Amino acid sequence: THESTQVMAESELSEEIDEDMDIGFQFENTSNIEVPKLLIDQVLGQEHAVEVVRKAASQRRHIMMIGTPGTGKSLLAKAMAELLPKEELKDILVYPNLEDLNNPKIREVPAGKGREIVMAHKMEARKKAQARNMLMMLFVVGIIIYSYFVAQLLWGIIAGIMILMLTRQFLPKEEMMIPKLAVSNYDKEHAPYVDATGAHAGALLGDVRHDPFQSGGLETPAHDRVEAGDIHKAHKGVLFIDEINTLRLESQQSLLTALQEKEYPITGQSERSSGALVKTEPVPCDFIMVSAGNLDAVQKMHPALRSRIKGYGYEVYMRDSMADSPENRKKLVRFVAQEVVRDGHIPHFDEGAVEEVIREARRRAGRKGHLTLKLRDLGGLVRVAGDIAHSEGAPITTAEHVLSAKRIARSIEQQLADSYLEQRKEYESFLRKGSAVGRVNGLAVMGGDSGIVLPIVSEVTPALSGAEGRIIATGKLKAIAKEAVQNVSAVIKNMTGTDISRHDVHIQFVGTYEGVEGDSASVSIATAVISAIERIPVDQTVAMTGSLSVRGDVLPVGGVTYKIEAAAQAGLKKVIIPKANEADVLVEKAYREKIQIIPVSSIAEVMEHSLVGPRKNTIIEKLKNITKLSFDIPEVT
Ligand code: ADP
Repeated sequence: THESTQVMAESELSEEIDEDMDIGFQFENTSNIEVPKLLIDQVLGQEHAVEVVRKAASQRRHIMMIGTPGTGKSLLAKAMAELLPKEELKDILVYPNLEDLNNPKIREVPAGKGREIVMAHKMEARKKAQARNMLMMLFVVGIIIYSYFVAQLLWGIIAGIMILMLTRQFLPKEEMMIPKLAVSNYDKEHAPYVDATGAHAGALLGDVRHDPFQSGGLETPAHDRVEAGDIHKAHKGVLFIDEINTLRLESQQSLLTALQEKEYPITGQSERSSGALVKTEPVPCDFIMVSAGNLDAVQKMHPALRSRIKGYGYEVYMRDSMADSPENRKKLVRFVAQEVVRDGHIPHFDEGAVEEVIREARRRAGRKGHLTLKLRDLGGLVRVAGDIAHSEGAPITTAEHVLSAKRIARSIEQQLADSYLEQRKEYESFLRKGSAVGRVNGLAVMGGDSGIVLPIVSEVTPALSGAEGRIIATGKLKAIAKEAVQNVSAVIKNMTGTDISRHDVHIQFVGTYEGVEGDSASVSIATAVISAIERIPVDQTVAMTGSLSVRGDVLPVGGVTYKIEAAAQAGLKKVIIPKANEADVLVEKAYREKIQIIPVSSIAEVMEHSLVGPRKNTIIEKLKNITKLSFDIPEVT
């Protein structure tokens, strides 16, 4: 029968999950796994991006990376800096300009030289100052001795002090002539990598500090107040900017100029400060720009900047997941080793622990036969598991540690969903037993990775005025509710003979709150409405998710795994999901025994599995006869 095929499908699934966990090779723990030295070799799953980075590094091209956070964009940018020749690195010095103090001079010298030059100047200045002070002292003492013999001693001392003060004012101050080392690459192992994400104009383009003492011998000379920006610090290296669209338009414009000219003068960024008077000669900034963001970010980027990058560089799309092959599982083993080494404080993972991590990578991929590449989050799991092992004083991290880490390291959204669930259980805002008319346990996803049970209640009344009926929905999901009802009105009319447009349909989402992505509520809404019209109760041990077409087909939705888990956690017994999502189900073992998963492809099947009572068959019969839709319903026994 239908039921038994479901059960079979389920056990097939679970078997496959466990069988496949063969990593393909044996190892005792991750300390036996070699971690590549170069960052570029540590990147996994983004082969295309790696290739582009290598090519771009050798040709000095800009790159734009588009994709989900935590998939390795900044890691690749860092890796690119490692690939650039370090022989080309330079130091940048700022010198006072004696003709125009507000226009300091810029000099570029080989890396490491800058420091020497500044030191030499300092020595020189010290020597000169010593000699000058010596001379002056002799001079003053001379005057005092002279006045002792010729005039009165008191006058001599006064004259001496006055001369001393006057000469201090007028003699050039050697310290003021020492150049400033604005960019130093002394002892750098590789080309600079500068992360300018979220930098304000001053940090990005350089700035000239304000001088509170603008005269009177206490002022700091202009050239000494010049601060290099990220674009200058990235000279001959890589400038990384994530969320590029959040950069202010003026800054994007300036960045474009810097990209084109490969040099950019530094000036004070705050208009009313004394720094704004100062503007240096152009300062070299020949960097490679690696910008990143999601697709939306790219579209909102300054078009000229975008086309510059397009014309003189590459655009890469970062992948979210990779195939679940032995080869890729092996890469995840290396990933765990890498993260352990990078952290430096957590114990290595044994084979069982790594297997748990891979299992989680599978679950998070949300697609059958895939492993997630959102590796920042997965790395988080590795660290939490390692921390647990470390706090227990365990020499090695085991599967147990990873499992407890999974429980602890839940995202904010998941924790929020948990607390809602607790609250709801307390108030019995959703039913777990029996049946009810017009009431359905829908399912939704919050924040991308946590499911919640979203009860939906519907009531249908004849339209008040006899004119067109209305759809009255509460909560934020009004638009979705309207669309869902409109989509199903044809189906409903066929099934029940009721013209929905002459009724008021009330739909309430019990306890909705912000953050629910509700595109997948339409099957639940339709079920609630049909139940309300026909007064046929809905089984409250059933939860459901799915999107509904105008023809009554159940279409796939996102986040099924999380939704199923939420339903199981809430104590429900069955969950109806779109058949097309069957392959995406990767439910944790603990939940698999708790809940029966029922894949369906039409609204009729949804009715079949959710309505109860003697009249249920009538409506399904009606449906079979009346509708011209090709439903594939098993015999009702
Ligand atoms: P993004 O810049 O895309 O938001 P990051 O490059 O900052 O992501 O990734 C954060 C961390 O996650 C990295 O430092 C690394 O430890 C891990 N990581 C992310 N993607 C990868 C990858 N493709 N290969 C190896 N490690 C990765």
